[in-house]
Amino acid sequence: MAQGMLAIPITETALADRFGRRISYLRISVTEHCNFRCSYCSPAEGTPYFSRKDHLKPEEYDRLIGIFKNMGVRHVRFTGGEPLIHPHINTLINSASRHGIGKISVSTNGLLLGRKAPGLRESGLNNLNVSLDSLEPDIFEKVTRGGDLQRVLEGIDAAIAAGISRIKLNVVLLRQENGHGLPELVRYALNRRIDIRFIETMPLGSAGTEAQHGQYLSASEAQSLIEAALGKLYPTTRSTDNGPARLYHLAGNTTTQIGFITPISDNFCATCNRVRLTATGRLVYCLGQESGMDLLPLIRSTYHDAEIAELISRGIWQDKPERHEFVNDPERSSRIFMMRLGG
Ligand code: SAM
Ligand code: SF4
Repeated sequence: MAQGMLAIPITETALADRFGRRISYLRISVTEHCNFRCSYCSPAEGTPYFSRKDHLKPEEYDRLIGIFKNMGVRHVRFTGGEPLIHPHINTLINSASRHGIGKISVSTNGLLLGRKAPGLRESGLNNLNVSLDSLEPDIFEKVTRGGDLQRVLEGIDAAIAAGISRIKLNVVLLRQENGHGLPELVRYALNRRIDIRFIETMPLGSAGTEAQHGQYLSASEAQSLIEAALGKLYPTTRSTDNGPARLYHLAGNTTTQIGFITPISDNFCATCNRVRLTATGRLVYCLGQESGMDLLPLIRSTYHDAEIAELISRGIWQDKPERHEFVNDPERSSRIFMMRLGG
């Protein structure tokens, strides 16, 4: 055991913060690279290079997932950057599955889903979010800086055909690019009997900050645009694992849930249950702030799992901020790099 450490029994209550929030959700950004360059997320030139030796290896992810599982984590999401470009994404999903994580999710831009969907399902994936900001090829290409809409749509169909159980579309609200196309996106989700969620643009990094200034569209305005075209949206009873989304459905159709996520217009930090892990092993306590702890040196030293768990537990307890500061301190949030942190 490392000097000065105290072994404590790790229980399910080990992950909590000073504000009474239990942490049960770990979002892992497995790469900061991406095959798209979305205007609200990525610099046009892509992300800075990190040496491969500074990235967690599959066996290191496996160990950390085991530690978090023992501390009460029940939901792991693999994100990025684009997680499907990670050469071992199936192995990582399988690690979560073997550790008994009940809900295993991936957030993807869908470009590689066409060939990867069956393997993801076999590895244990049971929840999939696909980003889809427009159904118009030229707008899609503009927003993603070159993305191929047709391939993404084929990918979504491949995921449905593979039988991945819960599929959701994620739409970032962009006044000029997709304000007019929101009802069409809802119709698309209805036709495929999948869920859809609309997210207010967050001022993260220079890309997010620019998009937020020029394109902000609130969730309530988006809801009005959808209702004007498709009819009234009725609140759906929340299940406990929907996170911050406010959920609705159209009259006579409860299969497709239509959600709105309001990081800007209606802060939901009081119910935050998540922390984030970057591909370089940094544990980050809040999407909108920089506080966190570097786990890579710990797992590459002689620390035992229980000691690492104790450090994580203390770090979250002491330093997880009460809330993001997108609105009060935009300068601070604009320094955050979404693709490193994993959206
Ligand atoms: N590449 C994958 C994807 O696009 O789904 C996973 C990573 S991406 C960073 C995760 C989510 O963050 C996506 O739904 C994306 O639309 C969202 N996102 C990125 N930048 C954002 C911003 N500035 N505001 C709101 N959501 C953002
Ligand atoms: Fe890539 Fe996803 Fe960011 Fe778009 S939102 S640039 S697909 S990481």
